[in-house]
Amino acid sequence: MTQCSNAPPSANAHEAGSTWPCAVTRMNGISSSQRSSAIISPRFDRRFADPSASLASDQVAQIAAFRAMLEQGTFHLTESKCPCGETAASTTVATIDRYGLPLDTVVCETCGTLRFDPYLDEPSVEHFYTQHYQGLYRRSPDLPAYFSRQAAYGEKVLRSLMSSGGQGRRVLEIGCGAGGALSVFAEAGWDCAGCEYDARLVTYAQSRGLGGVRQEPIAQTLERLGPQSCDLVFSHHVFEHVWNPEEQLRNAARLLKPNGVLLHIVPDILGIDRSEFPAGDALQYFHVAHIFNYSHRGLDLLAQRVGRHARRVTPPSLETPWSHAAEMWIEFAPAEVDDSTVCVHQNGEFVRRYLERTERRFHYGLCLPQLRRRLRQCRQAFWNLPTRVIRALSFFAR
Ligand SMILES: [Zn+2]
Repeated sequence: MTQCSNAPPSANAHEAGSTWPCAVTRMNGISSSQRSSAIISPRFDRRFADPSASLASDQVAQIAAFRAMLEQGTFHLTESKCPCGETAASTTVATIDRYGLPLDTVVCETCGTLRFDPYLDEPSVEHFYTQHYQGLYRRSPDLPAYFSRQAAYGEKVLRSLMSSGGQGRRVLEIGCGAGGALSVFAEAGWDCAGCEYDARLVTYAQSRGLGGVRQEPIAQTLERLGPQSCDLVFSHHVFEHVWNPEEQLRNAARLLKPNGVLLHIVPDILGIDRSEFPAGDALQYFHVAHIFNYSHRGLDLLAQRVGRHARRVTPPSLETPWSHAAEMWIEFAPAEVDDSTVCVHQNGEFVRRYLERTERRFHYGLCLPQLRRRLRQCRQAFWNLPTRVIRALSFFAR
């Protein structure tokens, strides 16, 4: 993750289209001129933003390479649709991602889910993940450390399952990375399977004794394990990367035993004003790898398309390296299970207003994490004062 920038919108505006290729000219069939626009703030507008100010030089080089790929046509953008399945209008809320890439974020007026539209087509996505993703995101090459971090959320998922009375014998993690989370299940006696695109991570997982981890798409995993073979199928910060979520959800549901649990953990865009990351900076959640920023309502409409519904679950209060960011833990439960957690009022206007309100607070440093940080700094500054000054202030404070 890059550091958040708390700087106000830059006054040194770039001219529109002067340096960046226009994403819209490359999309198939739809033009942003046909879509209403409600850009959250100048920071979210490619004409005025200057995100490179907070990036490292190697990231800037990756961005330049990405832009060149777009200009040369190596990367191709294509229309994306909201996974909720509704075809209602979408509204553009940003024309840039946090790295300065010229990608439009739109909000679905029906369900409030945010998505890039247009987005990279399938060959471009594959190229991006194999050639640019690791460098742009500065992902750690320290596999043992990554494995340990994953074990922390694995413990949390296992505890969540046990607290809800669930139990089982076989688990599948979709996008299992180095297998750290699965190792927790293996120690608890589960039969573990994982699918992952990154060959290096798969090799590492296998070297840690996780022979059930394979480099394959979920459709192939379904073929390997067979229908109704898993007690738990889950993913952790993966589902928002998936460009065909309905197909993936359908495959995952087919893998479940009759009482099996299907859990996806995704970022919560409606929690950015109260979590330590991104501390109110919504633009940090708009980045090229996350094609979707789901609303709960959007996930529920998606779930209905595969005969399920999206039930929000409260995870156990266990700290993990991801605890500082807002998350949604969503169980895709059978449709017949009663549920009152779905926020039916979430739609495009609801999410847009939340983002605008949060951006105003963020700009003035009034989001809760910003206030907490300032309080910590004040406390630290106080204790750094010379002892005689602290004594004097304490005397007058009596
Ligand atoms: Zn939608």
